[in-house]
Amino acid sequence: AAAGMGGGDTGSFKIDLRNVVKGAVKTRFPPEPSGFMHIGHAKAALLNYHIATLHGGHMAIRFDDTNPAKENTEYVDAIIADVERLGLKFKGPITYTSDYFPQMLDLAERLIKAGTLYADDTPVEQMRAERLEGIESKRRNRPVEESLAVWKEMVEGTLQGKQSCMRFKINMKDNNYTLRDPVAYRCNDTPHWRTGTKYKARLCTFCVAEEMPSLQEIFGVNPAEQNPNQHSLDCSSEVYPTYDCACPFVDALEGVTHALRTSEYKDREAQFYWVLKAQQQVFMTGLPDVQIWDYSRLALVNTVLSKRKLTWFVESKHVDGWDDPRMPTVQGVFRRGLQLEALRDFILAQGASKNTTLQEWDKLWTMNKRLIDPVCPRHVAVKSEGRVKLRLNNGPAEPEVVSVPKHKKNPDVGVKSTTRTKEIWLEQEDAQIISEGEEVTLMDWGNAIVQRVSKDDSGMVTGMEGVLHLEGSVKSTKVKLTWLPVTDVLIPLRLLDFDHLITKKKPEEDDKIEDLVNPKSRTECAAWGDANMQDLRKSDVLQLERKGYYIVDVPAGPGGQPAVLFSIPDGHQKKP
Ligand code: ATP
Ligand code: MG
Ligand code: MG
Repeated sequence: AAAGMGGGDTGSFKIDLRNVVKGAVKTRFPPEPSGFMHIGHAKAALLNYHIATLHGGHMAIRFDDTNPAKENTEYVDAIIADVERLGLKFKGPITYTSDYFPQMLDLAERLIKAGTLYADDTPVEQMRAERLEGIESKRRNRPVEESLAVWKEMVEGTLQGKQSCMRFKINMKDNNYTLRDPVAYRCNDTPHWRTGTKYKARLCTFCVAEEMPSLQEIFGVNPAEQNPNQHSLDCSSEVYPTYDCACPFVDALEGVTHALRTSEYKDREAQFYWVLKAQQQVFMTGLPDVQIWDYSRLALVNTVLSKRKLTWFVESKHVDGWDDPRMPTVQGVFRRGLQLEALRDFILAQGASKNTTLQEWDKLWTMNKRLIDPVCPRHVAVKSEGRVKLRLNNGPAEPEVVSVPKHKKNPDVGVKSTTRTKEIWLEQEDAQIISEGEEVTLMDWGNAIVQRVSKDDSGMVTGMEGVLHLEGSVKSTKVKLTWLPVTDVLIPLRLLDFDHLITKKKPEEDDKIEDLVNPKSRTECAAWGDANMQDLRKSDVLQLERKGYYIVDVPAGPGGQPAVLFSIPDGHQKKP
């Protein structure tokens, strides 16, 4: 249904990209493969792509896999699929920060020898406090040889090595805290999901003896010499570069000319350039410069954009999965009926702004409505519960089939057939507001005069009678009614409507997500739809007259299985 929807104005914002060589601009989208893409990531990917192509360059994808604990390959595939879903072309090959671990181990040694890195075993908490107060570590001025020796222990993963990290020696008194000797390499007990323990300098002889007998020969281990109860070193530990250390190096090595970063990292810009310069000074081949360009992080009302928190929604089963229509994921919003073009326009409209402002979903959905309204077909549905028969005493004796446009203002959308019958269905809610003797308009038919309204003791309308009054003017009536013929070819529908997953407009970082969950973010009602709805396909977008826009999630089944339709917000907050 999305095909052919009208174009918006994109690409008209000004950006202040420095050091541009036309045609040679390379940007990269750097997702961490620890979850599916949310629309904040979509903003990052769209901007990377847009800015590169605006300058005749290209975008690459590099998975930032420096944090081994949460990552896996299922997410890699999902992220690539989402980038494609966003209509973005990237120039391969797809790379991983971990591809460069061997070079980064070599780099560390060079940086230590240059006196740029020092080994530090200050406990984490103390180090944090010292950085805040600008206090130098007592290890800061240790001899290079000492740092090198500790580095070897770190690489081997000895217990002693594990207690240390390597820090950049920058300036502990700098007003910019990110320059107060940040950590460059640290040990981590989680084997990397891609590299495993490949980069261990030495294998634990116990493991070799016990678990990998085939390797005994290769490593020259004699099981007889082994203490059968003890590992010779902490064999699960690995050295990893931190993001701050890996990012500038890998960007430069890959020839990324412009690194886009969200503006809350503005403080880290100076650090990025410092680290890159230090790396350039010791690296054997030339490392080119990288220019940072910052943009604002996307935040939306009543929404968490954090993989960790979104994972919580999936794992606690508050949603059906990453593609649940309530999820602010790329898959979720598309499944709910957002058109790619609306998302692109919305994001590019924020353009180069550096301020993180809380955006309204209504704005995005209003842009979406402008795209779908002129081109989506109109259909009719009547809620099942309490539906009422109106008998038209002068109505057609036999069902009459007529052809009517699917869209009153756009003939290109085509025609559908409507059946007019002596008895028609009305919705209870509509029946409630009609009084005896009132003239009403039946949409796609003409006027009728309602003569009798029968109600039960509770006030529910149980039946109505009246006559067609086709010569009456549509302009003279207050009530315009959607209706369905009483026939056996109506389509059963499940209409689903969604609300925000959380109740707080502006969630804070340390809010407990459990406390914010909207207990009723999904409502469902059964309805009947006109016979034309049999032809709807998955992802078709339509309007149900007087109800709103919908997207088909599951088409009607051959055996009378209901079609499942998701309500598409139109930017007007409707609250019960
Ligand atoms: P999250 O925890 O929400 O997934 P992240 O920054 O840890 O955020 P990454 O996978 O590292 O997730 O992000 C990939 C890219 O998307 C990065 O360049 C990051 O800066 C950017 N990004 C993440 N969230 C947003 C956002 N809300 N708005 C704009 N860009 C974002
Ligand atoms: Mg990140
Ligand atoms: Mg994150």
